[in-house]
Amino acid sequence: MKILVVNCGSSSLKYQLIDMNDESVIAKGLCERIGIEGSKLTHQPAGKDKYVVENPMPDHTVAIQMVMDALQDKEHGVIENTDEIAAIGHRVLHGGTVYSDSCIVNEDVKRVIRECFDLGPLHNPANLMGIEACEKAMPGKPNVAVWDTAFGMKMPEKAYLYAIPHEYYEKYSIRRYGFHGTSHMFVSGEAIKFGNLDPENAKVIVCHLGNGASVSASIGGKCVDTSMGLTPLEGLIMGTRSGDIDPAVVQFICNKEGKDVNELLNILNKKSGVLGMSGGVSSDFRDIEAAKKEGNHLAEVALDAFIYRVAKYIGAYTAAMNGVDAIAFTAGVGENDKASRKAICEYLGYLGVKIDDEANDVRGKKAVISAEDSKVKVMLIPTNEELAIARDTLALVK
Ligand code: ADP
Repeated sequence: MKILVVNCGSSSLKYQLIDMNDESVIAKGLCERIGIEGSKLTHQPAGKDKYVVENPMPDHTVAIQMVMDALQDKEHGVIENTDEIAAIGHRVLHGGTVYSDSCIVNEDVKRVIRECFDLGPLHNPANLMGIEACEKAMPGKPNVAVWDTAFGMKMPEKAYLYAIPHEYYEKYSIRRYGFHGTSHMFVSGEAIKFGNLDPENAKVIVCHLGNGASVSASIGGKCVDTSMGLTPLEGLIMGTRSGDIDPAVVQFICNKEGKDVNELLNILNKKSGVLGMSGGVSSDFRDIEAAKKEGNHLAEVALDAFIYRVAKYIGAYTAAMNGVDAIAFTAGVGENDKASRKAICEYLGYLGVKIDDEANDVRGKKAVISAEDSKVKVMLIPTNEELAIARDTLALVK
């Protein structure tokens, strides 16, 4: 059975066709600059050459049609016709307070995606366009919505409610939702399997450290807390996002610089994080590390602060769960940067965490990186959101 996984951004569309018999990727690709001049599709069939098509893509419907054409192309294609695709799984950013599990798309699901446009203004409209484009291109085929907020919806009230007047939750559903949910769910599940932990009771902390970064705590795979909030701005220091700050900073800068709240939020989302802290060196952690090595003090502080914040969250989440059995690192930095992993774990001696330097000398593959006598298992677990989406889709349409 083949599942097509679709992840739409406002001007992009990523896809993977996965054979669920062995969970292998048959083809994957990316449509860029949808609705902008210079659109192109890059299609990568497994074991064959890359295929690039430069064609105008005014909207996601045209983009999906080009993906369908590429998948069925005589030379570069991987399927005879779309009958071979059993269902389409869509990453959908926000399901509001309504959906906490993946579901087959119907009119009600589309209504909820639409109602959550103001909670996910960049992603939800694009996600809906992707779904409607697939409905047009493959009528009658089931589309499944896999929500990025689903994992965080399982948090208890004490973790998800903000200490603001309750009427704002009642009127506008203002609460902590958490993002990267599909990744946290996948990685915590894989960590339990790979670490031979008790599937019902294992206390796991997942550090998803990429350009966007978040930490989650879960017991038996069920979310206890997660660091992103109403939006992905809360929590860790990220590539360009500030993470936690005193909200009064917003008012203070607005008053001093004559800016409005929207401008400030844009600065906190796009110009802060390690990019802002380093005085503009880069949002890319490799550049920050290189600048630190060249003696750039602000880059060094940005990196130290990033690591310190992750360690603080691990401490807080260990307290939230009254213990921790495993810590799993994932995403760009988590999977590739042994120095950051080690630096974070150096804060955790009080938990009995011990890193094995040789085992930690690894990139992008599942590994236990803690020493034999470490009280907490520390692991590297590569994330695979597409596979998680495909698995949920298969489970719903089987
Ligand atoms: P996102 O999906 O949020 O865009 P990724 O998970 O792809 O982010 O992670 C991207 C980040 O990972 C970049 O900042 C990149 O610098 C960082 N990264 C990748 N490889 C390394 C490495 N070897 N050392 C440090 N950082 C790395």
